Amino acid sequence: MNEFDLIAKYFDWDADIGDDCAIINPTPDTQLVTSVDTLIQGVHFPHNTTAGDIAYKALAVNLSDLAAMGATPKYFTLALTLPELDEAWLREFSTSLKALARTHNIDLIGGDTTKGALSITINVIGEVPAGKALLRSSAQAGDLIFVSGTLGAAALAWQQIEQGDTPSDFCLGRFNRPTARIALGQQLIGIANACIDISDGLEQDLSHILKCSNVGASINLADIPVSDEVRTYAVQTQDWCLALAGGDDYELCFSVPKTHIDGVKSIAESLSVTLTQIGVISSKQGLDIKGLKRDCQSYQHF
Ligand code: ADP
Ligand code: MG
Repeated sequence: MNEFDLIAKYFDWDADIGDDCAIINPTPDTQLVTSVDTLIQGVHFPHNTTAGDIAYKALAVNLSDLAAMGATPKYFTLALTLPELDEAWLREFSTSLKALARTHNIDLIGGDTTKGALSITINVIGEVPAGKALLRSSAQAGDLIFVSGTLGAAALAWQQIEQGDTPSDFCLGRFNRPTARIALGQQLIGIANACIDISDGLEQDLSHILKCSNVGASINLADIPVSDEVRTYAVQTQDWCLALAGGDDYELCFSVPKTHIDGVKSIAESLSVTLTQIGVISSKQGLDIKGLKRDCQSYQHF
């Protein structure tokens, strides 16, 4: 099997693959939004991660960026670097990738296949109604700050793996198969002023909103939503850094003017997703974390 057979067998699901470029016809009155993320073995996932989990996460983290903008997923490309041609691995990877792609109605329109250390780069393209994308730069003093779902479980799984312990299925699931909050992002258009997805940790990602919007914020440590396991761990160790600075949760953090609070409640109900208020945006610069006794370190690549 050569490179072209491999592409045809495992990645040619949607009619358009095969030309030198993919051609996109944008829907009228929309803007295209695009983002790219790379997953590297040993950095973003441990060496024993299954092909199915790797594929799922590689697409999910990219979908999460679309969610943060309120976008509808449309197309993606896949740059795959493989150490060897392992058909069992490719079959599992392709099946998992296709299943998640179908769930979100996103088409694979091209890519690149190379040999080398395992790495997966996905570029997603989505659409938003023109001028309506959720941005990091539009938070206003007085906005209420919300977080979806719970934080910290993915970071707890990663920490346990690194310590040689076995994470619970729940935490491992959060780490390997994060949920991209696509529907939430879409419904936040017209409700939220600013939005970001939490990939590197709440503290760091919320700080991006604050910096871009030229505002500050005050949040309460005790209000940050965490799962039972993370709460138990934090109460035992007094280490709240998993929730505050742990990455890989891919929940949304957004700011909402008080006048739209009812909208947030009805979104939470209609999507059955927990949306928790954790603080407020202020005109005073900086992030004030009430109840924090020691500093946490958010993830940094360099
Ligand atoms: P070129 O050499 O012109 O860049 P390639 O030989 O790399 O083209 O790829 C041939 C076709 O297969 C292109 O349409 C490309 O987008 C697609 N393709 C290559 N690798 C992948 C992949 N991993 N997944 C999906 N499509 C791919
Ligand atoms: Mg190529």
